[in-house]
Amino acid sequence: METTEKDILRGGQFLVKETLCEDVFTPEDFTEEQQMMKESVKEFNDREIIANRDRFENKDYAFTEQCMKKAGEMGFLSVAVPEEYGGMGMGFVSTMLVCDYISSGTGSFSTAFGAHTGIGTMPITLYGTEEQKQKYVPKLATGEWFGAYCLTEPGAGSDANSGKTTATLSEDGKHYLINGQKMWISNAGFCNMFIVFARIEDDKYITGFIVENNPENGITMGEEEHKLGIRASSTRQVFFNDTKVPVENMLAGRGEGFKIAMNALNIGRIKLAAACLDSQRRITTTGVQYANERKQFKTPISDFGAIKSKIAEMATNAYVGEAASYRAAKNIEDRIEIRLNQGNSHQEAELKGVEEYAIECSILKVAVSEDVQNCADEGIQIFGGMGFSEDTPMEAAWRDARIARIYEGTNEINRMLSVGMLVKKAMKGHVDLLGPAMKVQEELMGIPSFDTPDYSELFSEEKAVLANLKKVFLMVAGAAVQKFGPDLEQHQQLMMAASNILIEIYMAESGILRAEKNAKRFGADSQKEQIAMAQLYLYNAVEITIKNAKEGIVSFAEGDEQRMMLMGLKRFTKYTNMPNVVDLRNRIAEKVKSENQYCF
Ligand SMILES: Cc1cc2nc3c(=O)[nH]c(=O)nc-3n(C[C@H](O)[C@H](O)[C@H](O)COP(=O)(O)OP(=O)(O)OC[C@H]3O[C@@H](n4cnc5c(N)ncnc54)[C@H](O)[C@@H]3O)c2cc1C
Repeated sequence: METTEKDILRGGQFLVKETLCEDVFTPEDFTEEQQMMKESVKEFNDREIIANRDRFENKDYAFTEQCMKKAGEMGFLSVAVPEEYGGMGMGFVSTMLVCDYISSGTGSFSTAFGAHTGIGTMPITLYGTEEQKQKYVPKLATGEWFGAYCLTEPGAGSDANSGKTTATLSEDGKHYLINGQKMWISNAGFCNMFIVFARIEDDKYITGFIVENNPENGITMGEEEHKLGIRASSTRQVFFNDTKVPVENMLAGRGEGFKIAMNALNIGRIKLAAACLDSQRRITTTGVQYANERKQFKTPISDFGAIKSKIAEMATNAYVGEAASYRAAKNIEDRIEIRLNQGNSHQEAELKGVEEYAIECSILKVAVSEDVQNCADEGIQIFGGMGFSEDTPMEAAWRDARIARIYEGTNEINRMLSVGMLVKKAMKGHVDLLGPAMKVQEELMGIPSFDTPDYSELFSEEKAVLANLKKVFLMVAGAAVQKFGPDLEQHQQLMMAASNILIEIYMAESGILRAEKNAKRFGADSQKEQIAMAQLYLYNAVEITIKNAKEGIVSFAEGDEQRMMLMGLKRFTKYTNMPNVVDLRNRIAEKVKSENQYCF
C-alpha cells in the first residue's frame, strides 16, 4: 500500500498527536533482506574489526584504511548511494541498519565509516550536479576513493558559519583559490577528496566545494592528533594554500554552504545515533558475561542487586534507543517515498525527508550518544578494577563513546536546536503547539477529575502518564515562550531543561510503542521483559521531567503562576499505580543474565 501524507506524523508532531503502535516501525519489522544485510555486516564486524581491536588501539591508521577498503568491497559504503551512481540505493532504514551493526567494534572504524559515507559523500549525492555525481560518487561508493569533510576551523567550531577560509575567483574566472586552515578533519590522512566550506568575498554564508586531495595543489596536513579515544581514526588539520578548485566544483550555489553543512549534519546525527546502538548491545553482553562469571563473597556478582540494576538500565536504554532510532528512520524513509510519489527528484525527496525530522535527529543524537557513554561507564564498573585495564574492552569502549557527544554538533547545540526548531515549526504553523498548550492552560484552571480510570489494558496507564508528560512540556515551554518570545533562545538553561523533557518524551513513547506492538503480535507473555523495559524507561523519564520542569518553573515563573504550574507539574506526573521499579529491574536483569547476553 502506498504511504500517504496523512498516515505519518510530521517532524515534531509526536508531541501533540498520539501515535498508534501499529504505525511505528520497530527492529522486529526488518525485512528478510534487511536481516540478511544485518547478518553480513555483523559477520564483517566480528571478522575484520573486533578481531583486530589491538591494531586500532595501537593507532594503526593504515589498518583503518584497509578495513574501509574491505567495507567498500563488501558494498557497505554504497548502501545509501542511488543505483545510477554505483550504489545499492537502499532505503533509509537499511542505511541505518548498516551504520548500526558496523559501528560497534571500535569508534576508530565507525568514525571513518561515518565520515566517509555520511558527511564525506552525502553533500555530493544531495547537492551535486549530475556531472559532479557522475564523477565522484561511484568512486566513493566502492571505496576506490575516500571522502572527508572540512567545516571546522580553529576559530569556528559550533559557530560553523564563522569560518575564515576564503575562496577567491581567479582572474580568468575558471578557478577558485582556497586559502585557510581546517581542524579536526576525520579521514584527512587517507582521503582522496574533501568537501570544503569557504567564504567568497564577504558573503553572509559560506560556500561548499569539492576539492581533490592533491599535495601539489597547496594542500598540507598537520600530524595526526593524539586523542582520548577513536585512536586509529585519522584526525588532522588541513591547510589550503592557494588551492585551485575548478568553478564547476562548487556545490549547489554560492552562499549555499551553510545549508549544505546543516543538512548533511541532520543525516549525520541520526546515523550517529544508530552508530551508538550496537556498542550498547555489545557492552551489555560483555558486562553480563563477566558478571555471571566473576564471583565475590562466593556469589556471582550478577546476583547482586547493585549489579542487576546496572544490567537492567543498560539493556533498557539500548532497547529504547533502538526503538526510537528505527521509528524515526522509517518516518524519514516514508517521507522520502511520499515526496518521490509527488514527483520530487531523489535528491529533493531525501533532503526534504530528512529535514522534516531534524528535531528527531537532534533528539536521537543526544539521547543515544549519552546512553552509550553511560552504558560503557557502567560496563567499566561491572568489571571493577579489570574495567580500568586496557586488557579488557570496556575502557576503550568508554573512551571511544566520548566523542559522540562532541561531533556532529555538540549535545548542547543539539539540545538547543531541538527545542528551537520545534518553536519555529509552531510559529510557522507546521505543528500546532498553541492549541494544545491553551488546552493545558484551561485544564490547569479547571478542577481535576477524581474518577479512577480503568487501566486494565496493557500500557493504558503508561500512555496516560506519557500524555501528561507532553502536557508538562507544553505547560512549561508554552509559558516560557509567552514570557520571552523569540528571546527564549537567550535563556539557554531553560532551553536545555525543555529539551531534556522533549527527549525523554520521544524516547519513552518509542519504547512503549515498540513493546506494545510486539506484545500485540507476539503475545504479551513473550514480551514480559520488553514491557518491563518500556515501563522502567517511562518511570525514569517522569523523574527527569519532574527535575527539569521544576527547575524551569522556579526560575522563570513567580507567585501565583509559579504555584499553579508547580501544582500542575505534580498533577501531570502522577501515577495512579506506581510501578515497582526494583521488580522491573530484576525482571529485566534476570532475563539478560539467563541468556548471558543482550537478547532483545
Ligand atoms: C575526533 C574529532 C573528529 C572530528 N571530525 C570532524 C570532521 O570530520 N569535520 C569537521 O568539520 N569537524 C570535525 N570535528 C569537529 C567537531 O565537529 C567540533 O569539535 C564540534 O562541532 C565542536 O566545536 P569546537 O570543538 O570548536 O567546540 P566549541 O564550539 O568551542 O564548543 C566548546 C563548548 O562550548 C559549547 N558551546 C559552543 N557554542 C555554544 C552556544 N552557542 N551555546 C551554548 N554552548 C555552546 C559547546 O557545546 C562545547 O561544550 C571533529 C572533532 C573531533 C574531536
